Amino acid sequence: MLQFNHISSVQEQLKSLAKTSRIGFVPTMGALHEGHLSLVEKARKENDYIVVSIFVNPTQFDNKEDLEKYPKTLENDLKLLKKVGCDLAFIPKVEEIYAKNIVSEHFEFGGLEHQMEGKFRKGHFDGVATIVKKLFEIVTPTNAYFGEKDFQQLQIIKALVKQEKMPIHIVPCPIFREKDGLAMSSRNTRLTKEHREVAPFIYETLNKAKQKFQKESVEEVEEWVKKEFETQSLLEMEYFTIAEETTLLPAKTKEKGKKYRAFIAVFAGKIRLIDNVVF
Ligand code: AMP
Repeated sequence: MLQFNHISSVQEQLKSLAKTSRIGFVPTMGALHEGHLSLVEKARKENDYIVVSIFVNPTQFDNKEDLEKYPKTLENDLKLLKKVGCDLAFIPKVEEIYAKNIVSEHFEFGGLEHQMEGKFRKGHFDGVATIVKKLFEIVTPTNAYFGEKDFQQLQIIKALVKQEKMPIHIVPCPIFREKDGLAMSSRNTRLTKEHREVAPFIYETLNKAKQKFQKESVEEVEEWVKKEFETQSLLEMEYFTIAEETTLLPAKTKEKGKKYRAFIAVFAGKIRLIDNVVF
């Protein structure tokens, strides 16, 4: 597996390959777990050459401490990537990507960017779209893989490639969970023992809410979820939203033929966890 820190080395390596090979790309922020690896494994099956980037992108963080304390396990990440058949790991420094100007480009995605994560993490999606656009320009992948764990991000990236007319196929990948249901996340390693123990409550509640959604109204289900979290002193719910899958607009009533998904963000102490489930 090749390991590059510089854009020019990546471009040099991919220049001749891009004409004849399908390049599969998985952007990550490192601290890799099985969820990330499932994306690389899927990419491996569908492409000739696999590129994985590891870059903790400063412009997508709205919380300084979250950025500073973001887990870093580079040596282990590289070991895992070799195992799953990654061909090229791109590990740039912040200056390589942003030079001295660590700011985002501003994007509009027809309203997708104003819902949920966009509402609660100001500037987050400008940061995400900025880095993904830059990485897409460097790697020029055929297929790029994104987890449904960050479903809103996935929809935004689909909108980004359409808007920027980039000929890249965006491939959604299912959420990988721990045995107890907690969605895998690099941030899970930062949970205290107590918070880790109660964290599966998030997925349990989403599943119960899904059952309720069969018979009850959007408002009733949302109210029920809010009350459930009030019983948990260690978890603080930031939002729970039932939204239509493509527009991500909050559902008001249930309409036949529409697909709904429920989204949640919860603080377990200082650690912010997100999850979502098809309704
Ligand atoms: P991150 O390193 O958190 O930026 O994630 C890199 C990619 O892995 C994103 O497309 C995420 O949606 C995806 N991902 C992270 N956690 C999971 C998971 N538990 N299951 C599936 N995909 C995931």
